[in-house]
Amino acid sequence: RHWRSPQEDNTCPLCPAQAHEDRNHLFFTCQFSSRVWNFLQIQWLAGLSPSECLIAARKSFGQPFFKEVVYLAAWNVWLLRNGRIFRNERHTFAAWRRNFIHDITPLSHRFKP
Ligand SMILES: [Zn+2]
Repeated sequence: RHWRSPQEDNTCPLCPAQAHEDRNHLFFTCQFSSRVWNFLQIQWLAGLSPSECLIAARKSFGQPFFKEVVYLAAWNVWLLRNGRIFRNERHTFAAWRRNFIHDITPLSHRFKP
């Protein structure tokens, strides 16, 4: 929802590469998102179908709560992106990490030590 129309500036707001922002760039290939996935130790392999890519990423992650981690990670990338576009807020990895940890902490009662 609320993806920008083709008439608008579709340059990625999260990286200096002036890359065209589409879903694949924003959530997977963007320099900012790549740092997020590296931090979480989740690998998205290229050249696979979406379902194969998901299975391979879950396998490489090797931890429980893969789905929750991916959703909250991507959600917080989306929020930073919107903050940058609509409120001209700074987007830092530290802010992403703080927000991600804030959001994932309520699930921690389900985690084993
Ligand atoms: Zn980018």
